[in-house]
Amino acid sequence: MKETRSTCPYCGVGCGVIIESDGTQITGVRGDPDHPANFGKLCTKGATLHLTAAPGIARQTRLLRPMRRLQRGLAPVAVTWDAALDLAATEIGRIVRTHGPDAVGLYLSGQLLTEDYYIFNKLAKGLIGTNNVDTNSRLCMSSAVSGYKLTLGADAPPACYDDVNHAQCLFIVGSNAAYAHPILFRRIEAAKQQNPAMKVIVVDPRRTDTAELADLYLPLQPGTDVMLFHGLLHIMLWEGWTDAAYIAAHTSGFHELKALVRDYTPERVAQICGLKHDDLFQAAQWFATSAATLSLYCQGLNQSSSGTAKNATLINLHLATGQIGRPGAGPFSLTGQPNAMGGREVGGMANLLSAHRDLANPVHRAEVAALWGVPDVPSKPGKTAVEMFQAAADGEIKALWIVCTNPAQSMPDQALVRRALQRAEFVVVQEAYATAATCDFADLLLAATTWGEKEGTVTNSERRISRARAAVPPCGDARHDWRIAVDVARRLEGQLRPGQPSLFPYETPESIWNEHRESTRGRDLDITGLSYAMLESAGPQFWPLREGEPTGKARLYEDGVFPTADGKARFAALPWKPLAEPREARFPFSLTTGRLRDQWHGMTRTGTLGRLFGHVAEPAVQLNPQDMERRGLKDGDLVYVTSKRGSIVVPVQSSAALQPTQAYIAMHWGAEYLSGRNNKGEPLAGVNALTTSAHCPTSKQPELKHAAVQILKAELP
Ligand code: SF4
Repeated sequence: MKETRSTCPYCGVGCGVIIESDGTQITGVRGDPDHPANFGKLCTKGATLHLTAAPGIARQTRLLRPMRRLQRGLAPVAVTWDAALDLAATEIGRIVRTHGPDAVGLYLSGQLLTEDYYIFNKLAKGLIGTNNVDTNSRLCMSSAVSGYKLTLGADAPPACYDDVNHAQCLFIVGSNAAYAHPILFRRIEAAKQQNPAMKVIVVDPRRTDTAELADLYLPLQPGTDVMLFHGLLHIMLWEGWTDAAYIAAHTSGFHELKALVRDYTPERVAQICGLKHDDLFQAAQWFATSAATLSLYCQGLNQSSSGTAKNATLINLHLATGQIGRPGAGPFSLTGQPNAMGGREVGGMANLLSAHRDLANPVHRAEVAALWGVPDVPSKPGKTAVEMFQAAADGEIKALWIVCTNPAQSMPDQALVRRALQRAEFVVVQEAYATAATCDFADLLLAATTWGEKEGTVTNSERRISRARAAVPPCGDARHDWRIAVDVARRLEGQLRPGQPSLFPYETPESIWNEHRESTRGRDLDITGLSYAMLESAGPQFWPLREGEPTGKARLYEDGVFPTADGKARFAALPWKPLAEPREARFPFSLTTGRLRDQWHGMTRTGTLGRLFGHVAEPAVQLNPQDMERRGLKDGDLVYVTSKRGSIVVPVQSSAALQPTQAYIAMHWGAEYLSGRNNKGEPLAGVNALTTSAHCPTSKQPELKHAAVQILKAELP
């Protein structure tokens, strides 16, 4: 038996796994006792990874070879790799020559490895000449990026998992860590058990399993987070709980914020947030006066039309109270996906460049162009996720290359996404799973390797970089994502820059890593001291880890110096804004979406295992018992859930976790479970038939956490 150390491919906790195999088949998996993210523990999803790789399941679900669809609507046929790669390069080259580079869009995934991400980003921005390269991480954490940059000056979570053990107050907001980050949540439970004096505050419209741990639960109304944070600051100021010395020495912009929060009186905040006056005071006191306060937050803040404001105004509280830069203190965003962080690091988004550089900065563009050996990097902003599919639906983007993600299920406003996929002239889907709904729209399917077969690196929520390693050979004829990208890039170079040396000389993931590493020199995430050899010998490492340093930094800003022009963190004086789509008479319920404990994204992997349906077996829309009674509904009744964009049919279920007028559907269920129609009668599926593509103007992250809906009993024939 062979044992291979790697990383779990599900959530951003980034647990280490030991893959057991016979060299050709994966036979088992267990937690890596030496990995600092999990110390040997695994949640249900991680502990069943090997079962999802069983040959019987792979035969039914994996895309085993490249395929081409000769005509839309027909079944795809197998082609050779050479034919597939030639076709990709020929069609993309044709579209670039005919319509310009911005007629191409690449849509990537937080589940790609850092090395994959690096190549795709270089291919789009350095070779094709478009910044239209974005990722499903846009749906996951782009508001956290913009919140950090606006206030702290850099996209760098300042805390680490160990801070859970040092905190005296945990402020968990917009995060059901019990389901979405289970192994981190076990660490939180253990910390609370060891230190019962630690106060846990949970802020969430839904009383989740995470809220069961709370000393104080704040069931705020959806979309009122900024109102709450300003209200807490108002109380802290009134009670003298802010840290004047920290504010004076290490921050700027406090006067503007102080003037703004004057109007956020406890009475007004309590009324708009739907919270008790006393609870606001209690939360403010615990947050401000504890010896160390750590905030943990996730999609409840990020997936919002005010996502940046929610992140930034929470960080305001840490700056105003000096709760940052010490063990157990700081604002700590949790990433949903296993390598959303790595994607940010290589600049794999429409507005970013390598090593946390900004596309809008001409100096940064020149640095990256010099590094890549190209004349320039285009300055025109690229299309972010929603904008990219809108541009394809409008006929502006003609070629879509979708890698390791399933927008035909996961993007909001599915009617728009379907129009985009149907209108684009050429759709390439690079995927490990033939069962992903987006495959149905592909002109060309490129079979990709996945967990257990790939080599590279990932970065977890706490800035810790780990190796992903291959335990077995690729399934079928599948190839590695970086390899496919390099092979298409080399063919495109023959058309777009003939006769010049290749920009893509890579033959191993390590050679890509080495170039990425060099790109970080002198940047906030400098990893010039981190090599594959060091990851091999010393295990996972935090960034930054500069050349000559023995280890990376677990905590940032301990010296109170921030990466801004004057070295000071900036307060964000941003007012509260209502939801993009508030409830109204025709749509009187607030629908929110969320995760189940034992499922992952669109279930292409977890949905293959019967045992992972033991926790929740089928989809349902959950309603408060009072709403059930008022509408004459009982558990199991079928209802239409209808938004302005479409309607789905789903069983209803009573849940005291929800407040009246709120509704909840887990985001995982796709076409096999939830069918529906849009307003034109066209077929749609899943909860994203209902959600809105309204998004935060700064982070461009869509408001997946809220849509106004109507819920009516289905009158079935
Ligand atoms: Fe995998 Fe996340 Fe579970 Fe860890 S907590 S085993 S990373 S799904």
